[in-house]
Amino acid sequence: MRFITAGNQLIPEQLAKERVREAAKHIPSPVINPHFSFSAELLSFLEGKQLLLDELPFPIELIHAHYEQGYIMYEKGITKTENGYHCQRCGNEEAHLFASFFCARCRQSCTYCRKCITMGRVSECTPLIVSRMLMENTVYKQPLHWNGTFSSGQQYAANAVVQAIDNAEQLLVWAVCGAGKTEVLFPGINRALQLGKRVCIATPRTDVVLELAPRMKRAFPNVPVIALYGGSEDRGKSAPLTIATTHQLLRFYKAFDVMIIDEVDAFPYSVEPMLQYAVEKARKETSSVIYLTATPNEQWRKEVKQGKRNAVTIPARYHGFPLPVPTFEWCGNWRKAVQKQFVPRNVLQWIKDRLFQRKPSLLFVPHIELLEKIVLILKRIDRNIEGVHAEDAERKEKIAAFRNGDIPLLVTTTILERGVTVPNIDVAVLGAEDRIFTEGALVQIAGRVGRSAQFPNGDVRFFHYGKTKEMLAAKQHIERMNHEAAKRGLLKTT
Ligand SMILES: [Zn+2]
Repeated sequence: MRFITAGNQLIPEQLAKERVREAAKHIPSPVINPHFSFSAELLSFLEGKQLLLDELPFPIELIHAHYEQGYIMYEKGITKTENGYHCQRCGNEEAHLFASFFCARCRQSCTYCRKCITMGRVSECTPLIVSRMLMENTVYKQPLHWNGTFSSGQQYAANAVVQAIDNAEQLLVWAVCGAGKTEVLFPGINRALQLGKRVCIATPRTDVVLELAPRMKRAFPNVPVIALYGGSEDRGKSAPLTIATTHQLLRFYKAFDVMIIDEVDAFPYSVEPMLQYAVEKARKETSSVIYLTATPNEQWRKEVKQGKRNAVTIPARYHGFPLPVPTFEWCGNWRKAVQKQFVPRNVLQWIKDRLFQRKPSLLFVPHIELLEKIVLILKRIDRNIEGVHAEDAERKEKIAAFRNGDIPLLVTTTILERGVTVPNIDVAVLGAEDRIFTEGALVQIAGRVGRSAQFPNGDVRFFHYGKTKEMLAAKQHIERMNHEAAKRGLLKTT
């Protein structure tokens, strides 16, 4: 049995936890005692968070004393609803995502949430702990140190972001791939920090957190910036500027005045109500939400069209050249070809042309099994050709080698549809008719090409065995953006 210190006596840990659980049943908490000598360390650790007992690195007696003196609250982790249960941390209400077990702690059958279990078990007898203290916010006079310039499309959107932050409104920034959307946030974040507001940039993917954090640190050098993701060293810290995966938001509670959601359409945020719940829980009641995406879903586009959703578009890239428009090319029954150890003649020609011109290129294919077969076939013409997919242990190394030019052509699944920026590349899709290639995915894939100002053009080729609606919609999407950019005078006229 473990013992912990409580004042100058030792009590069994089990007993102390018992007291916490007992107290969790009595809500509301006691009134705040102003004479209590509270632990600033504990309160600052808990600020804006909603944590399990096990996530707090403090003696349980100290935690409980803060409860008794009214400084923190205990909330039930799992509550009963009319039809079943509700998980207070992740919002889960699906019956099959709850399980019951005989709990050694509460000595009866106890229900827990399976949905958010990777972040520690929330069960009926587990309280979630929240601070009742208001956070002290630092005001920064001139936090932004950046001397870049905006394209007129960026400037327009940046102003809209500032306005949304001033008015605590929601705003969708619909910016084409390569519009320079990160910079568009700078003036808004600057304003928020000047007003002592807390800002969070949340994104579904860890890669993006790792890429954004150093950029934000450079732009706001005197402001503490933390990066939160599974296994991050900043865990437990809080800062005026937080960059986090949407999963990490589950640990926050009414913490942010400004919530920026990057790649709002990207898996898994778009299909996962848990993450939307996390966003709602992590932001303050009065706060602004800025959504960023190049490919909003149909529902959102409809709302924008009907004027129901506040939105601003950046239809042009920062360098002012139009988006490369994909061309479609029929390639016959390519699956059958791959089974017979070859790739269709026109696809092979496209690849050979790129190898000959020494132009780096990406070839997107629908599935991992196909990818492996295709890589083997292509290695016959150049053994440096490689393939990469989500479960690939050497993913990072291969992408780096592709950037360096050591891999001339990289065969990939949709894992590289976002985030990879390599100058002067061409892109092809083999089997563009496959269900996995949605309009959004195809627009993102095309968006890899022509991003750098030195090489604003490039080839985007969709090889197919029958055109799909999604392919046509993707092409129209790109053409519409180019048209809007031209109409608004955002394209270079030379
Ligand atoms: Zn849960």
